[in-house]
Amino acid sequence: MKLNEGFVIIDFGSQFTQLICRRLRELGYFAEVLPYTVTLEKIKKHQPKGIILSGGPYSVFESDAPQFDILELEKQAPLLGICYGMQLIAHKKGGVVEKSLVKEYGHTTISWSSETQIFKGLPLNQEVWMSHGDIVKSVPSGFKITAVTHNQLPAAMESDRIWATQFHPEVSHTQNGDHIFKRFAELCQAKPNWSANTVGEGLIQDIKDLVKQGDVLCALSGGVDSSVTAMLLTRALGAERVHCVFVNNGLLRKNEYENVLKMYHEIGLHVIGVDATSLFLEQLKSVVDPEQKRKIIGRLFIEVFEDQLTHLPQVTWLAQGTLYPDVVESVKPFGGPTQTIKSHHNVGGLPQNMKLKIIEPLRWLFKDEVRRLGLYLGLPKPMIERHPFPGPGLAIRIIGEVSAESLEIVQKADQIFIDMLKEHDLYHKIWQAFCVLLPVQTVGVQGDGRTYEQVLALRAVTSRDGMTADWYDFEPAFLKKLSNQITNQVSGINRVVYDITSKPPGTIEWE
Ligand code: GLN
Repeated sequence: MKLNEGFVIIDFGSQFTQLICRRLRELGYFAEVLPYTVTLEKIKKHQPKGIILSGGPYSVFESDAPQFDILELEKQAPLLGICYGMQLIAHKKGGVVEKSLVKEYGHTTISWSSETQIFKGLPLNQEVWMSHGDIVKSVPSGFKITAVTHNQLPAAMESDRIWATQFHPEVSHTQNGDHIFKRFAELCQAKPNWSANTVGEGLIQDIKDLVKQGDVLCALSGGVDSSVTAMLLTRALGAERVHCVFVNNGLLRKNEYENVLKMYHEIGLHVIGVDATSLFLEQLKSVVDPEQKRKIIGRLFIEVFEDQLTHLPQVTWLAQGTLYPDVVESVKPFGGPTQTIKSHHNVGGLPQNMKLKIIEPLRWLFKDEVRRLGLYLGLPKPMIERHPFPGPGLAIRIIGEVSAESLEIVQKADQIFIDMLKEHDLYHKIWQAFCVLLPVQTVGVQGDGRTYEQVLALRAVTSRDGMTADWYDFEPAFLKKLSNQITNQVSGINRVVYDITSKPPGTIEWE
């Protein structure tokens, strides 16, 4: 795929760098993130139409602050500096950056002057989002301040081919942030070249060029990423060369194995269904530790795929549904270690010792781009819009031991919950909704008799990307009806509770 003539984003460690990339792509321009340690040679190879310098947690005047040769960089293409990016440009070109007496965090109002190029077409006062403690005290020669905050601090500066904002146009709280990227792209004379159509056809051609010989093994999970991967490969190489494996681990939702398998056949994939329910349930017996559950399930998936491979000697490639955020080489501010909260299970993450060559057709894409590509390739809408479902499936929604009985309880309750969300037109308003079976029994009364049965927790959250989440504020009448249906229809449950924990401090799934 032709990936040059787009935008290069140089990452200085901002938590929003990927958002800059998404904004440009949403506007139809190819954009790519590179760490500030990248060489100028590498940037030149990309033939960028424009270069964006991200924000970052450092202060440009500190001795260990990330640097870049701005004088060389500006010869390559027009620049847009954001926050730290603006400060770095000012610092390197002879301006003065210093600690500000007034810090500006969060919402700020700015006003700009009518002579600016980048804000052209917008009202003079705007609400923007800021997060900085340093300011450009004086601009380099050839620059002018084009916007100030209500504190009269500089909010933007520009010269002929360089624009810079102290605020973050990539953050959704900034009004008309997109307009700034759009104007920058116009000023760079970039042409939109990024759409589901061009991306899809480009990726199909790439697969054809790469996989000249040998067949491909593609693990399917029922989710969007693996389905789109399989569709792309099948379009490129034909169904007979793409062997898709869909495993029933017994931990799927009610009737999901049958339904998803049928859908895969309908869209023309060559799928091998493997029912390994008894193997998984056998190995999960008396396991209660969540990390152990995840590890056992991961290992068994691999065993099943290895077993399939022995029947497919013509397979020399392994497809993985890796996405852009997993491969982008991002800057970890201050080299800080990040803690493992949960080990991640990914059916695509098969071991290297299988001696297969790896193909990752989605490695350039963000999740929302994968969804759009899926629609373009003809995947059914309900599959594209499905809530995320964890690799270890219902095993991590049963706290404590997983058994055939507990699975049946969760499957029944889950179906009632999801059906009711769809009936009330709430499914699409929610990022993820599910039931959790607790290993706790409480006393109840049903039909005048004493019961002593399990508690079921309901969880429904809204989120943009799964990184943070809020619990969904249902109408009491909805919860009342739902609780009633579950206790009436699912034997083994006599009490229903609703989880009102956001992320953080809770995670979305319970285990
Ligand atoms: N660390 C710099 C400041 O505080 C830049 C911050 C940023 O890029 N968000 O001003």
